[in-house]
Amino acid sequence: MANPITVSGKSTFDFSELGRERIATQCLCCGGRNLKSTPAVLMPFVSHRVFGWEPVIIDESWGLQTVKTGNAYSICKSLACSDCDFLFLDIRFSPSEMEKLYQDYRGDDYTSLRELYEPGYALRNENLNAGIDYMGQVESFLEPYLTFPLTVLDWGGDTGKNTPFKGRSDVFDIYDISSKPVIDGARIVSKEVAFSNQYKLIVCSNVLEHVSYPSDMIFEIKNAMDKGSILYIEVPLENVQINAGPDSYLKKKHWHEHINFFTETSLRRLAMNAGLEVVELRELVLQFAGKTLVMFQMACRLQ
Ligand SMILES: [Zn+2]
Repeated sequence: MANPITVSGKSTFDFSELGRERIATQCLCCGGRNLKSTPAVLMPFVSHRVFGWEPVIIDESWGLQTVKTGNAYSICKSLACSDCDFLFLDIRFSPSEMEKLYQDYRGDDYTSLRELYEPGYALRNENLNAGIDYMGQVESFLEPYLTFPLTVLDWGGDTGKNTPFKGRSDVFDIYDISSKPVIDGARIVSKEVAFSNQYKLIVCSNVLEHVSYPSDMIFEIKNAMDKGSILYIEVPLENVQINAGPDSYLKKKHWHEHINFFTETSLRRLAMNAGLEVVELRELVLQFAGKTLVMFQMACRLQ
């Protein structure tokens, strides 16, 4: 395994050298192997939906001599990269496990199982589906780097209701594994169709925090880009990182659908190592239902 090399004062990492073990042993953004860790649990909704592992109560009837009685959940670790502060779940899901988690996302089966483990979820889901409207701030961030008429591909775009410029694009394509019907004006495309086009804008919004290998997704998306394309990446800056700072991994004791918590440094490393130039990166602060949400907005083009 090669060590990261330094070019123009910045370390680079060749993603073809990234390990694909079930339990991660290196940073998914910079390849660093100097990882800090703390024990955590995989939330029961996720462990049930992905692995079929339900929480149990171990009691005397189990007849175990060396195991203590009590609640048992799926354990895991929180990992933090010492080089770029990327914070992540050590478990990496396979493609078929991702399919189990995200098929018919927030549909009936998903919602009823989640309600079982997380009472009150169904009501919160209605609010989530109603959405938070900050489209204007996304469009104003991107507009200086775009030319019209626009062609848009929303990678992981769900129904398309949150796609920027959706009413102002000559082409509005969506690639998504959730298999939901899309809004009027949008077209569902396969990867093959997406890769046979080059789009002026590709949106990958609130997706990379869910996937096992963010770099793999960026390399796929690059197939639909040319020198004039802008890739818009949006991921949350999570509250534990805002509140706990550099040692936030010590406070990260549970993992749900967001398995990657990015920092500015880790996002820049990820983009650079994946062959992208960061055109602009900023934090967007939003108020929603009495809470403060922070998003990283990153516009990139091919290097
Ligand atoms: Zn790192």
